[in-house]
Amino acid sequence: MDTLLEFRNVVKHFPVAAGGVIRRRYKMCKAVDDVSFSVERGACLGIAGESGSGKTTAAKLILLLEELTSGSILYEGKDIQALSKHDLMWYRSRVQTIFQGAGSSLNPRMRIKDIVGEPLEVQKGKQLDRKAIYAKTEEMLGKVGLGPDNMRKYPHELSGGQKQRVAIANAMILEPSLVVLDEPVSALDVSIRAQILNLLADLQEKEGLTYVIIAHDLAMLEHITTDIVVMYLGRIVEMGKTEEVFSNPAHPYTKALFAAIPRPTPGNARDAAIPEGEIGSP
Ligand code: ADP
Ligand code: MG
Repeated sequence: MDTLLEFRNVVKHFPVAAGGVIRRRYKMCKAVDDVSFSVERGACLGIAGESGSGKTTAAKLILLLEELTSGSILYEGKDIQALSKHDLMWYRSRVQTIFQGAGSSLNPRMRIKDIVGEPLEVQKGKQLDRKAIYAKTEEMLGKVGLGPDNMRKYPHELSGGQKQRVAIANAMILEPSLVVLDEPVSALDVSIRAQILNLLADLQEKEGLTYVIIAHDLAMLEHITTDIVVMYLGRIVEMGKTEEVFSNPAHPYTKALFAAIPRPTPGNARDAAIPEGEIGSP
């Protein structure tokens, strides 16, 4: 077993206003409350749970966008809160994210080549010249299924699916080992979700990536994850191999959650076909 990422009794509390005008009172919102799990190298860990269960907070903790209240997160055995300046740079290039709605929040004033190449420019600008960055950017766009004709375009010239591909290229160009995906397809048209998920699965295999993928869409998680963690109000209520958890959910909350998954019935044509092809931008 080769553990890439480990949560050890991770706690994140947020102070939230609880009334009082003159003397403000605060309560603690336990967004992540004593969470422990580990992710093996090459695995695809799904974090499931309803809105407000602490999934995004867990992702932000991995990405060092929030500080832990207590506990620790280990990456390749190193406590990410105690990294030296040098290791912090290393960690930030090894761990990338595709956040919720990433495709729809690309900088509208930047060309696709600059959006995709920016991490290289920032991290490797000293080692790589412009030509090398351009070549690597073009290659990365190809890997996400976008031709070189897109290099000089602006985000508004692309469809929703194409923009999400750009966000994926931007996350992958530094050849990370861990990618944290927060609801990677929920903002997309239903008809193109399958294509983007297939692309993510392809990239994971080809590039040997490890994924932590957050979603409330359980059918999607069942399809692409190897392991699953189910959160409820900041706590883990169920975890294990995806197959086992889905075939035999133990916790009543998970049972209820799973019972709500729409199951396609054989012969029901409505569920049978997933339309192919992207819808162009108007
Ligand atoms: P999820 O992604 O599962 O929907 P979140 O991690 O976004 O859940 O939120 C978990 C809980 O933490 C929610 O109750 C949310 O309101 C609270 N929360 C998240 N971020 C903050 C913050 N910056 N300040 C206060 N409360 C927060
Ligand atoms: Mg969220």
